[in-house]
Amino acid sequence: MDTYLHKGMRKKLVELISKRGISDKNVLEAINRVPRHLYFFDSVFLERAYEDNAFPIGENQTISQPYTVAYQTSLLEIKKREKILEVGTGSGYQASVLSELGAKVFTIERQKKLYEKTKPMLIDLGYSSIKCFYGDGFAGLPTFAPFDKIVVTAAPPFIPEQLLKQLKIRGSLVIPIGESIQFMKRITRISEGDYKEELFDDCKFVPMLSGRAD
Ligand code: SAH
Repeated sequence: MDTYLHKGMRKKLVELISKRGISDKNVLEAINRVPRHLYFFDSVFLERAYEDNAFPIGENQTISQPYTVAYQTSLLEIKKREKILEVGTGSGYQASVLSELGAKVFTIERQKKLYEKTKPMLIDLGYSSIKCFYGDGFAGLPTFAPFDKIVVTAAPPFIPEQLLKQLKIRGSLVIPIGESIQFMKRITRISEGDYKEELFDDCKFVPMLSGRAD
């Protein structure tokens, strides 16, 4: 259920994110439309769903902080009908925000239990156009490539080569890089073999791990 109370809390959350520096109106509107409290598998955390924080969602993973979702989404500069790959489905929250922006979303998760929980939940919530996959994001989704944009929501120590190859020309990859110290990067494919790299703020993501987990 999405009540007036939840809608009110969401409006406050959007105001907070906007004060923290996110100015893209489309991104703020998308955050305002996604019922974040319904993504919390653990009802203990329900009343905290609209704080600007990350929270545990099981399998030792977290639903990202709304500010972080808004920040990565702004850097992606999504246009309607663009084909987007998200690495790290987790709760499905980021995927829903991308879908609200009119993107065609493909999302991949390495943890089978999370994949199995999130896939039917997104359908229940009305996000049935989001395509969920169980697999290792380091390999991307070669069958569905190339993508206009790729967003990675876990931090690898280096830029995964396969993801660069799955970008369209002029497409971009938004990714946190590093271990104890991480920075957000945006890599744009300029031509077949040339890429431009931009460095943004420091950040804190769970590590991107290789291989699939049962
Ligand atoms: N986007 C999510 C945030 C999830 S946290 C949300 O909106 O809730 C990061 C997720 O990345 C975790 O679920 C983790 O299992 C997943 N992950 C880590 N390494 C991965 C990999 N190599 N391939 C796919 N998913 C990965």
